[in-house]
Amino acid sequence: MSLFASVEMTPGDPILGLTEAFVADTRPGKVNLGVGIYYDESGRIPLLRAVREVEEALAREAKPRGYLPIDGLPAYTQATQKLVFGPDSSLLAAGRVATSQTVGGSGALRVGADLLRKALPKAKVAISSPSWENHRVVFNAAGFEVVDYAYYDAATHGLDFAGMLADLGKLEPGTIVLLHACCHNPTGVDLSVEQWKQVVALVKDRGLLPFIDMAYQGFDKGIDADAAAVRLFADSGIESFVVANSYSKSFSLYGERVGALSIVGANREEAQRVQSLVKRIIRSIYSSPSTHGGALVAGVLNSVELRALWEQELTEMRERIHAMRAGMVEKLAAHGAPQFSFIQQQAGMFSYSGLSKAQVDRLREEHAIYAIGTGRICVAALNRGNLDNVVAAVAAVIR
Ligand code: PMP
Repeated sequence: MSLFASVEMTPGDPILGLTEAFVADTRPGKVNLGVGIYYDESGRIPLLRAVREVEEALAREAKPRGYLPIDGLPAYTQATQKLVFGPDSSLLAAGRVATSQTVGGSGALRVGADLLRKALPKAKVAISSPSWENHRVVFNAAGFEVVDYAYYDAATHGLDFAGMLADLGKLEPGTIVLLHACCHNPTGVDLSVEQWKQVVALVKDRGLLPFIDMAYQGFDKGIDADAAAVRLFADSGIESFVVANSYSKSFSLYGERVGALSIVGANREEAQRVQSLVKRIIRSIYSSPSTHGGALVAGVLNSVELRALWEQELTEMRERIHAMRAGMVEKLAAHGAPQFSFIQQQAGMFSYSGLSKAQVDRLREEHAIYAIGTGRICVAALNRGNLDNVVAAVAAVIR
């Protein structure tokens, strides 16, 4: 009898399963709105010009590939700190931030979770209802009990802000609160700056530990505006918080696994102490991050010209998403469905469309349009070539 005989089949990721079904679908004009990827107007994952320039220079240099330090390439982590906290951050000047290059934003979340489990073994983790499915998975895997706080209001397709404040206000001091900096996944519903200020005050008052997940910086309003939550926590006087960020979307480097974990400590000495534990944790999982993706991001962020080019390309991605949101709302209204105007208020790649599971099933079965059962659609997978079809199909299934 095999020693693995007792291992049962584990259910696969539903989103990846949907993509497999999409690939196998032979109907012309099929559209996959189930993904979490930005596609350009021609339906491709862009290779940014700024990235390509660095890549070509790296190929020409043909450098040997030694190991990176456990916490990654310094040129990468330093540039990341400036992007996340702002170039004039007083926290950075005080040496209160320790940043590690991680294996994507997911790696940052997991290393951060493992760190917090060691530092705060009795804490619970609170995540928004709903949240990116992997949040619960990652924090559970690190050993945490995960609870929900109110977030999405299905009736308004917006934020249940009163519910959110009420739930956060009931958490035990020391609870870790996972917050989406911007472009909330899966709903597309974000807090205004005024609302963030209230959340920051409450979190501080109650002694909660903010863990900010920023996977879409630059995808809604711009690099600094999208980091408003991080900047407000930084200015709040809160002594400790954590930020995970990802370049998967903002650099269109999904498979390179580029992310970072930043720990803010009460002072320089504390940040260094915590970082020594972060390094121990990374060492025990994958030892050090890979070289290529980090070199690409660092090469762009540390060059004045390429940084400007990247910002321009990021702006193009952001504006294309806004244009698709506007186009969808306008065309749905023209089909007699003006109730979808909220799609234009939502931010980032995703929208909770309000479509039911049955309507999503009909979209797939009758129109070859794939979306997630919750009604989440990826607006960044729309383009001028598929928008009319998608809108006509949505208009058909809501009748
Ligand atoms: N956080 C959120 C909210 C995300 O949507 C994602 C990506 N889907 C991540 C983290 C992880 O990003 P990465 O692909 O860099 O691991």
